[in-house]
Amino acid sequence: MQQTIRVTVWNEYLHEIRHESIRAIYPEGIHGCIAGFLNKAGMKAGTATLREEEHGLRQEVLDNTDVLIWWGHMAHQEVQDEIVERVYRRVMQGMGLIALHSAHASKIFRKLCGTDSDQLRWREANEKEILWVMDPAHPIAQGLPDHFILPHEEMYGETFVIPRPDDLVFVSWFEGGEVFRSGVTYTRGLGKVFYFRPGHETFPTFYNPHVQQVIINAVRWAAPYAAMPKVSLGHNPEPIMPLSDRRPNTLGQLMEDYGK
Ligand code: ZN
Repeated sequence: MQQTIRVTVWNEYLHEIRHESIRAIYPEGIHGCIAGFLNKAGMKAGTATLREEEHGLRQEVLDNTDVLIWWGHMAHQEVQDEIVERVYRRVMQGMGLIALHSAHASKIFRKLCGTDSDQLRWREANEKEILWVMDPAHPIAQGLPDHFILPHEEMYGETFVIPRPDDLVFVSWFEGGEVFRSGVTYTRGLGKVFYFRPGHETFPTFYNPHVQQVIINAVRWAAPYAAMPKVSLGHNPEPIMPLSDRRPNTLGQLMEDYGK
């Protein structure tokens, strides 16, 4: 039987506190909305926010997280480097990471990309976005139509300064003419990473059933396998196969084996 997937939804949680209009859309915060639909889908989703001690991401929390979801925008620089490193180590060990919308510029996503992934075109003009499925066989696209429409979103346009992705799952078209790689996957260490573009804070994007389906699918895809082989790295003095008897133990023999 498959274990219940443990998710931590991390949100900066500043826009919702500072702006009544955004709080009206997400009264429990973006993190509350996302954790809500993940729990309904049978996952065990908790939340963490920037202003909590250690940003709510104590080692114990991360150790008990299969997939971490990240939404941040105005305060990327306030995330302590020590916590970024802690999240990074857990991704290397197999924790999945899903970066949403403006998390493209977060410290953790930039570190995982190794490029200036904060760089892209953008415009806030309440324009229509069409998300096209590029890879219908991909687990993250399951249960979706071949495209879906968000009536109002912020525009993100290419060129998006990311490394070439493992999988390109979605491409967005915007009313103003730009296109964008809006769903991309990476493998980093043992961890699976997914970036998903929609989710500007002034729109109720995370209530859209297709957006929710993408995030639910992505959590299932990014969760580490329970039976992943344990790898032994570093100094391994004991060979796994017997070594040949023809091993030189003098410099003369060594030179002879090299034809000198
Ligand atoms: Zn935005």
